[in-house]
Amino acid sequence: MRHKIRLDGVVTPEDARKEYYYLPFVVPAGARRIEVNYHYENQVEGAQEVSAGNNIDIGVFDVRGADFLTGGFRGWSGGARSEFYIAPDAATPGYLRGPVQAGDWTLIFGLSKIEDASVRYRVNIAMEIDTAADGEAVGDVPVPGMPFPQRIAGGETGVGKWYRGDLHAHSEHSDGQNTVEEIVEYTRRIGLDYFALTDHNTISHWDELARLNDRAPLLIPGEEITMYGGHANVWGLDNWIDFRGSDSDRVRQLVEQANARGSMFSINHPDSPIPWKHDSVRSYQAVEVWNAPWRWFNEPALLRWEDHLKRGERMIAVGGSDSHCVPPAVMSQPNGPGEPCTWVYVEGPLTQRSVLDAIERGRVFISEAPNGPFIEMRADADGDGVFEALQGDRIDAAEGALVRFHVNYRGPDGKHLRFFSKRGLVKEITPDVEEYDGEFEVRIEGDDYLRCEARGYRGRPDRGEVVHAMTNPIYWGTW
Ligand SMILES: [Zn+2]
Ligand SMILES: [Zn+2]
Repeated sequence: MRHKIRLDGVVTPEDARKEYYYLPFVVPAGARRIEVNYHYENQVEGAQEVSAGNNIDIGVFDVRGADFLTGGFRGWSGGARSEFYIAPDAATPGYLRGPVQAGDWTLIFGLSKIEDASVRYRVNIAMEIDTAADGEAVGDVPVPGMPFPQRIAGGETGVGKWYRGDLHAHSEHSDGQNTVEEIVEYTRRIGLDYFALTDHNTISHWDELARLNDRAPLLIPGEEITMYGGHANVWGLDNWIDFRGSDSDRVRQLVEQANARGSMFSINHPDSPIPWKHDSVRSYQAVEVWNAPWRWFNEPALLRWEDHLKRGERMIAVGGSDSHCVPPAVMSQPNGPGEPCTWVYVEGPLTQRSVLDAIERGRVFISEAPNGPFIEMRADADGDGVFEALQGDRIDAAEGALVRFHVNYRGPDGKHLRFFSKRGLVKEITPDVEEYDGEFEVRIEGDDYLRCEARGYRGRPDRGEVVHAMTNPIYWGTW
């Protein structure tokens, strides 16, 4: 038997100020499958940042409720789909398969853009009811891919090595164009050692990641918390994390929850296209200073990160391709995964934990591509001739001491290696060879740091310099 519900209503700009709009509905006993489609007036065509009209995102919570942080999340498709289904063994990408429990479910609208004074919507819900079934759907909703199959993807105990990866990409489980398998296969071909897939607000892609985590690269389940006041990546979660950070207090709770669950919270593309609006929140660990190929909007992200450092806040700089397509999909953006590439220095076996630990330690540099420039910066704090400290490390050195730094650069010649501290530009080197090793001294004064950027022209000089690669700092003093 088919059971149908229609929900008609109107949302207004007033509703949109609350960002989320809830539509409860009842699932009767014996339901075996839920199908939902929705439409509304004057829907934007193309990118909502630049096009006129309205945009209503959609998702759903089940009988476990829709409370912030503890809700029974069953899926999210944002504005990428106009219909979805949920069944015990399968669901539309973005949604979680599992028992269709009888009781109160809640559709959630994300009112990301309501331009008209009133926007009429219609939601059609159809359910297949098994009237012969005795009893109700029972059992837990499985967390996709969990427990995640852990794996050692290389490395030896006691040996440190640099690994290439990407921390930010999307599949068909949100607004990306490819299956998880197509993307993972692509990252294998371009030689990534680790890869985090971070679909918007959902975790339904983790099932496929778990299935594919027996071959290169090492896969890390992630989620891009996609708020209307900023985006953030969370890596290494054990379950879904809420995305409804509609004010700074809620965002603070999200960071706390992510950290309590052993995962890292990193704010994404904080200046454009979705500006980060929660400057009073300081507890996250990382900033995506480099989103997609280097262009204008990464410059303010870099300055934002530098402001953290100048205030004495230890904040890790990471990159993310934010890729939404790989071949054979039609390429709707210029880059695939690995552009930029986030390199991490791992001591010992390469595992999900060791990658995240390396990032947390700041043993990271970012390069424009997997085969882009390589930069390792080291310091010899005690003057014994051994460069024991690496980017991300804090050195102990006496005030006024001269400390020797070493830089190893591999990349095109003629690029400018610029070294910055709190005080600004400290040193510039322009290697005239493609494999460069150099040393120089820096005087230790106050709480400070040294970081390196490799800049140069890409194409026409009148377009200005781009960053080809950049490191996290080596720190001294109180950090
Ligand atoms: Zn984003
Ligand atoms: Zn993204």
